[in-house]
Amino acid sequence: MSSTLPDLLDAWRAADSRSVLTGRLPLSSLPRLRPLLLDSAGDVAFRLAFSRDEEQRAVLYGEVTASLSLRCQRCLEALDYRVDGKMALALVTGLDEGRLLPEKYDPLLVSERLIRPRDLIEDELLLGLPQIPMHDPDACGTDIRQMAEDQDQARKPNPFAVLAEFKRK
Ligand SMILES: [Zn+2]
Repeated sequence: MSSTLPDLLDAWRAADSRSVLTGRLPLSSLPRLRPLLLDSAGDVAFRLAFSRDEEQRAVLYGEVTASLSLRCQRCLEALDYRVDGKMALALVTGLDEGRLLPEKYDPLLVSERLIRPRDLIEDELLLGLPQIPMHDPDACGTDIRQMAEDQDQARKPNPFAVLAEFKRK
């Protein structure tokens, strides 16, 4: 077990040796996430566990948790949003291989053996962000009549959320 996160990692070797990486990263060190945050203080806790599954497939199970400071799109005030992401990835060397995976895995395309663990953590956080960040209606600082209208909107299922859920299964 290691608490340091290498920039680059030999994914196949990590799977063979069943490496587990745990630790925390500052949110401010994630360049794609950072512009989406109201405040980039704080960090993300991660656990990345590499292994071989029962069919000797190289796999990676990961968990990332973070409390993100977003801007509520209704009242424009700060909104604390918790992301609790889980990944189940199978390492593949080509897209054809990816298509043959069991449903429980998402493919992780690995070229030249190497992956950037930091990118995986950031991807998972980005995937966990809401389409439109908003407070719960009773915690939101916006006008009450406006709130009732927005609530009606919010009851309709968001087609993108449904898609994202489908993709993750
Ligand atoms: Zn709000």
